[in-house]
Amino acid sequence: MTQEIPSLYGSLVFNDKVMRNKLPKDMYKALRKTIENGTHLELDVANSVAVAMKEWAVENGATHFTHWFQPMTGFTAEKHDSFIIPVGEGEVIMDFSGKELVKGEPDASSFPSGGLRATFEARGYTAWDPTSPAFIKDGTLYIPTAFCSYGGQALDKKTPLLRSMEALSNSAVKMLKLLGNEMVTRVSTTVGPEQEYFLVDKAMYQMRKDLVFCGRTLFGAPSPKGQEMEDHYFGALKPRVTDYMHDLDIELWKLGIPAKTKHNEVAPAQHELAPVFDTSNVAVDHNQLTMEIMKKVAEKHNMVCLLHEKPFVGINGSGKHNNWSMITSDGVNLLDPGSTPAQNIQFLVFLMAVIKAVDDYADLMRVAASGAGNDHRLGANEAPPAIVSIFLGEELTGVLESIENDTYFPNHEKVQMDIGAHVLPHFFKDNTDRNRTSPFAFTGNKFEFRMLGSSASVSDPNVVLNTAVAEALDQFYQELEGTKPEEMEHAVHELIKRAIKKHKKVVFNGNGYTDEWIKEATQERGLYNFVSTPACLPQLIVEKNVELFTKHQVFSKEELTSRYEIKLENYVKTLAIEARTMEEMLTKDLLPSISEYTGVIASNASAKKAFMSSISTAAEEALVQQLTDAYNELTDGVASLKELTEKADAAGDMQKTAETYHDEVLAKMNELAAIANTAEALIPDEYLPYPTYDHLLFF
Ligand code: ADP
Ligand code: MG
Repeated sequence: MTQEIPSLYGSLVFNDKVMRNKLPKDMYKALRKTIENGTHLELDVANSVAVAMKEWAVENGATHFTHWFQPMTGFTAEKHDSFIIPVGEGEVIMDFSGKELVKGEPDASSFPSGGLRATFEARGYTAWDPTSPAFIKDGTLYIPTAFCSYGGQALDKKTPLLRSMEALSNSAVKMLKLLGNEMVTRVSTTVGPEQEYFLVDKAMYQMRKDLVFCGRTLFGAPSPKGQEMEDHYFGALKPRVTDYMHDLDIELWKLGIPAKTKHNEVAPAQHELAPVFDTSNVAVDHNQLTMEIMKKVAEKHNMVCLLHEKPFVGINGSGKHNNWSMITSDGVNLLDPGSTPAQNIQFLVFLMAVIKAVDDYADLMRVAASGAGNDHRLGANEAPPAIVSIFLGEELTGVLESIENDTYFPNHEKVQMDIGAHVLPHFFKDNTDRNRTSPFAFTGNKFEFRMLGSSASVSDPNVVLNTAVAEALDQFYQELEGTKPEEMEHAVHELIKRAIKKHKKVVFNGNGYTDEWIKEATQERGLYNFVSTPACLPQLIVEKNVELFTKHQVFSKEELTSRYEIKLENYVKTLAIEARTMEEMLTKDLLPSISEYTGVIASNASAKKAFMSSISTAAEEALVQQLTDAYNELTDGVASLKELTEKADAAGDMQKTAETYHDEVLAKMNELAAIANTAEALIPDEYLPYPTYDHLLFF
């Protein structure tokens, strides 16, 4: 088996090797040019690629093709067409044209558009993205595409990502040229997303309406054992999980997804998968596919893969770490501290640009990690706080401080100082520092954004990062423009000095979980602290952010407004479903159980009394009282939950509705969950209508 992996890897992908083999030389060259430089693709090339693609797809068992896109639902969408064309007497041929490859016209009216697409204009179109390879899944050729309205407005997660990559590349290349690096023609952003997930038994999953409808349990008494023994993190894998992970790897490898690392996570039944990084666009597509395949393979193993950010109350939730860097067309990682002073100038400029970007647009980073599910994690002592700050580690912080204060960097054993000739310290990378509490951490040669929720598309944070860094580089460019080469090092020194003074407020190397940090961050440093999704979403359309995105042509104002509305609506819908599910589970499942068990205890008590009138039934009476109290409180609670959702729905505008859901509906749900948990803890398993945490997490 293991010998077969290299040939199995990417076997279902129309990758470079297949293209080289299948395409005429000139066509292959033209396509590579489009992929590498984003140049326009001529129709004859598209036709030639279509022929090769179809031939390859049919050879590999495909009968259909689909344009595959990422509407703003956060999921992927597809509509399959077969290759067959009837010819003559009941015969067909398999055909696929360049036109079908480059453009599709799915009916867009049922996808969220946030008012971008008037309902009378149902048409949208999908456009082939040749930079992300096509692949075969379940007998269909999948063609990654961007999805736009007929007027060209983005209706998806890929279009803005491609635009932001372009913006970053332009600004970065300009900056590199200014610094004397003439070789670079393009700068790509790279992403390696680490994906966390839970696995639960399918039969148990199906017995819980909250898992089925909401992807998370809405209540559940803690099991006697939680994660306190810390025995699950990196612990030995159970055979059932090992089998699953093995199958998952094989499926991902066939699709050319470089799944690399797998291990148990902190919580029981929680695991992680990380691929080798790729260009952002491909990494985002691959992560969407990975999430889908994770669920599919779990089904085969009679399990369900939960990608919700907080499936279990009181147990760590799941996130996704977005490892990010920039790489030049000649293969240099711009966040890798170099071994020469000149390389370090370049590194320091790009490092400082990222720090500036994250400080100036911390609110947008927070928005990119927002969502009803992730609200349960951020700031809950298991995931980063909702405050965006940057961890740089001791060494880099020291380097920047020395520049700020014109003091030479202390004689660290890894640092060489070339006093006199150079004004910038010369240092080597040291990536041993780790800080798990920081939302945005430098990890040696890349930054790791850790706020993202496990179910989110990785597109959003990368759109923000790419655009914000492009803007920071542009501003630095303006400051350095016109500097003579021999004065550049000094000019960069002064630039960094100004920039670090201004932006060091976002740098924090300490423990992000403490209350002192929240106080310091908000009161002394003036950093944003948005505690919920409704609180942060309006930042999407504040002036400075509209300016950023329109300037770099990543979003128009209308596109931003539409995204704000969609995210808000999504939040409201999610909470409305959760509230209804809770009502239903309490009314139809838990309340009848409480009543039944109360009856059992009460009749046992009276049987005891009838048998021996002197016997005490005080314990039974107390239990009956507790159960009855819970029963009454839950009954009243369900009624007020209903009233509160009605109140939220009638709040007027969507922002107010979302806020009411957060402040009142969710608060009531938490209150009810606590009562339900108390009741659940009193009732034996056989009287409970659904499996408890003990069973879900440990059996
Ligand atoms: P950790 O210690 O956090 O697990 P790893 O070094 O294992 O960190 O890397 C985690 C992820 O970061 C992997 O997906 C890896 O491919 C990715 N990664 C490594 N280098 C880069 C880079 N230059 N750009 C983007 N992602 C990267
Ligand atoms: Mg990591």
